[in-house]
Amino acid sequence: MLQEISIAANEYAALIDYLSGQLPYEGCAALIGFGGGTDGPLHILRIKPLANVAPDNRRSRFVADPREWTKLLFAAPTDGARLVGIAHSHPSAAPAPSAEDAGTLWHTLPTHWIVSFAAPARPVVRAYQIRPCLPAREQSLRIVNG
Ligand SMILES: [Zn+2]
Repeated sequence: MLQEISIAANEYAALIDYLSGQLPYEGCAALIGFGGGTDGPLHILRIKPLANVAPDNRRSRFVADPREWTKLLFAAPTDGARLVGIAHSHPSAAPAPSAEDAGTLWHTLPTHWIVSFAAPARPVVRAYQIRPCLPAREQSLRIVNG
């Protein structure tokens, strides 16, 4: 069964904006929201840009700044929202998980988004559940108002 994920339109726009501003390098952001139990719906309330600090090849790989991660993970939640996913961009590749993406240690997060700028004027966003030793499973992504 496809897990359904929704995100507010303004946060979706903010995500595309931020990642587009990182070109030609890969960019990444944390997805903060609610839900994500076993196949339950997931709502992304806000995104949190994270600097890509990969020491090399930032055009084709990303390492989220560990200081920003730490701050995020230990931030006291004020509204109950929590880290539910991560998004990163593929500046010129398709929105499909690379071998490195498939082997991410963040596979316990409910959702992984890949934003492809292969056609820069028309970025394509795909959401996946990354499963160790299994093909990534695509999730349905819905943009909602408010
Ligand atoms: Zn990737």
